[in-house]
Order: sequence, then structure tokens, then C-alpha cells
Amino acid sequence: MSENFKLLLILSSIAILIFLLETFAKRKILSFEIARKTLHISAGVLISLSPIIFSNFYYPFIAALAASIFSIAAIAFNFLPRIDPRSRGTLGTFYFSFSFALLVIFYWDNYRILISISYFLFVIGDVLTSIAGNNSKKKILLAINSEPKTLQGALAIFVSTFILFIIIWFFLKDQFDSLNLSFEKFIIVNIIVSTVAMIIEILSRKGSDNLFLPLVVSFILFVLLSQPQHIDSFSIGFLFSSIIVFISVRFKLLNTEGGLATFVLALFIFGLGEWKWTIPILVFFVFSSLLSKVSEKSKQYPQKRKRTKGNVRDMSQVFANGGLALGTIILNFIFPSEIWYLVYLVSLSVSTADTWSTEIGTWLGKKTCLITTFKQIEKGESGGVSFAGTIGGVIGSIVVISVFFVNLQVSMLILLIVFGTVGSLIDSLMGAAIQAKYYCRGCHATVEIKAHCNAAAKLTSGSSLINNDAVNFVSALIVSIIFYAVI
Ligand SMILES: [Zn+2]
Repeated sequence: MSENFKLLLILSSIAILIFLLETFAKRKILSFEIARKTLHISAGVLISLSPIIFSNFYYPFIAALAASIFSIAAIAFNFLPRIDPRSRGTLGTFYFSFSFALLVIFYWDNYRILISISYFLFVIGDVLTSIAGNNSKKKILLAINSEPKTLQGALAIFVSTFILFIIIWFFLKDQFDSLNLSFEKFIIVNIIVSTVAMIIEILSRKGSDNLFLPLVVSFILFVLLSQPQHIDSFSIGFLFSSIIVFISVRFKLLNTEGGLATFVLALFIFGLGEWKWTIPILVFFVFSSLLSKVSEKSKQYPQKRKRTKGNVRDMSQVFANGGLALGTIILNFIFPSEIWYLVYLVSLSVSTADTWSTEIGTWLGKKTCLITTFKQIEKGESGGVSFAGTIGGVIGSIVVISVFFVNLQVSMLILLIVFGTVGSLIDSLMGAAIQAKYYCRGCHATVEIKAHCNAAAKLTSGSSLINNDAVNFVSALIVSIIFYAVI
């Protein structure tokens, strides 16, 4: 059979299936949920087999791209109201095909089997999760983020991933023979993959699991199967992250959502970078958390400032401060170079300088001025700079970086601290110029969250799309890119 003909056959059978299911759902022969799941499973299994069906890269790639465009159009023009109702407000169906296009780009040449495995695990796990979540008699809701997730759904994805992966392992034994992986090691890999799949499902919003689940699962498999020596560091990382997260959530340094996000972050950083990469970010996390606990308890700390920045220990804050660290360690794995470690330290230096200057400035600062107009503002407000805060930021940078200056020259150390301090000033500039600030009618404070004192606050400056986390992330990103360019 020619590849053209295979493609035509697959695309037309999916098109016919969509048409039939849409018609059945419209005539109430099938419930909308069953129609959607049937489509999901049959299209998904067909897609996950395509790397085996086709030998030419362009067929699955173009098919996935066409499906991505089709699903964006379906969302934009709302022409599949039963199967993909706009009211669901998610990009789930788009992510479904888009993530596959990315897998094909990443793994087609050397790790084609990973595309099939990770996509298959995702497709079946996803459907079983929603069935378990919807049909349990006694649903146990997990109040982790704004979307209702159930304990049953979370367990379903863990168990289904774990069991399916064992089945795949036995079916494809020949494919893995060259790895010389013992069954015990395989079970460890499987536990890591299944746990991460479960966490992504719990943390996902608006269908983002359809994007992140296949991508993250395939990446873990890529790391562990292409370089099995990482299995040990990932196992230690797994235990280590569990302990750190348990303590942090227990002592309210992180909320549950932030804890789960930190688990994934710490697993990757330890798994890929061991102590060399883990210690700086651990020092940042521990000292910044302690500093904010101590400063909030002090008498000098303005009581009004509490809870004006939102829930500062959630997932978006974890990724605002740790996302770049994760990005650089992944880049270092794919394109190994010493420079990534320095970029990593720069991004951490910016995060530390920013966190420490805010905390110390709010706690011990005498006078805080807006960086753009030098007008005096309230302590701790974004965009403000104070003498104590700036000094505190510099000290923070020194603490985080110098812990590991074994291989760094003094000139490089100074450069990292300068970049960190410049980064925190850029952060203040963006905080003053574009970050959303609101006025609370209840307590008359300037706040950085949309609601305060149980009421919507009024936007007074900046863009409502840009919050403190976005400013932190972007300022560290800008400084890291400049550093990468000049070094
Ligand atoms: Zn208020």
C-alpha cells in the first residue's frame, strides 16, 4: 500500500467517524460524552500507531498539522457543537493534535517508538481518567486549582499508565533489549512516569494536559532510555523531591498546587543535574521562604501588605521563579555546554535579588520610591526601590551563587551578581510601568490581585494581563538572554 493511500484512508476514516458521531450525538442516539470519548480513543490509537504505519516523516507530521489547524478552526467557528462545544472553553482538541506534531518533530529520526508509547499512554489514560472521574459513586474532589479534579481520576491515570506501560514493555521487548534494563529498573522508570502523568493531570487547566502529558512523558522516557545512567539520579530525585515537598506543604511554604509543581521541577533538576544544579535553587527556595516567614512575622512589616500579592506559593509562582532553571537544564541535556550552568545561575541570581530586595525592603526599608518617578510609595509595592532592599538583593545574589563557586572565577562571580542586581531593577521598572495594580475600595490599599476584601478591585495602572509572576519571569528571561549573548 502506498503511503499516500494509507494517509488518505486514515484521514477519511477519521472524517467519517467525526461526521457519524456528530450526527448520532445530534439525534441523541449517543450521549455527547460517549461520542467524544469514542472519537478520542479511536483517533488517538490510530494516531499513536502512525509512526509504525508510515516510514516517511511528512505523512504523520502533515496530518497532525492539518488536524491542529482543523481543530483551531472548529473552536473559532464552532462547527462541531456536540463533540467539541465552544462552551467547554478549552484548547483541548487543538493540543491533542498539536502535541503529536511536536512529538513527530522531536523523536522521528532516532526515537520513533517513543512517539507511539507516550501518545498511546496519554490517549488511553486520559479517557480512563474522565470515565473514573465522572462515574464514581462517591467522588472525592481535590481542591487544587480552579478546575474540579477527583481523586478517582488522578488514581485512574496513575494505574492505567503503570499497567499499560508494563503491557507495552512486554510487547516491545525487542525494542528495549539493547538498553539492558533490568525489570526492577523498568519498574522504577514506570513509577516515575506514572507519578508525573498523574501530577500533570491534576495540575492541568483548560485541557493543557493534552499538550503537557505526551510531551513530558516522552521527554522522561527519552532521558531515561537514551541515557539509562540517569535512572539512578531520577530515583534519588524522586525521593528527595517528595521529602522537600512534604515538608514545604506541611509548613505552608507552598500550597498543594505549588507543592506538586515543585515536585516535578525538583525531580527534573535533580535527575538531570544532581547536586551541582540542585543546591543553588534549593538555597534560593529555603532562604527566600524563611526570609518571607521571618519578615512577615516582624513588627516593622506593614500588616496591610499581607495578601496583597495573591497566593504567592502557587504553581505560577513556582514556575515564574523556577521555569527558567528547568529550561536551562533541559537545554543543557540536549545541547551540552558549560554556558547553560552560568545562564542558570544568572536567572537564579535575578530571582533571588528580586525576592530578597522585596522582602528586606518591606521589612527593614525606611523609604520606598517608585523607580520611574521617584515618588514615594508604600513599602513592598511592585516597582518600588529602597536602599535596604537593593542591598538585600545583592546579598541574596551572593548567598545563592557563592555556595557553589568552586569552579567560578571571582570575575565571573561579580558578573553574575551584577546581572542579578540589574535584573531586579528591570523587574522593578516593569513592575512600575506595565504590571497591573488595583485599588481596593474596602481597605484603600494598592493591591496586585484582581480581588481584595471579598470584592473586585479597580485597575488603576498597568495591564490586567501582566501580574507579578509574569514580571518576575520576563525580567529573568531578558537578563538571561542578554547574559547568553554577551558571554
Ligand atoms: Zn482590601
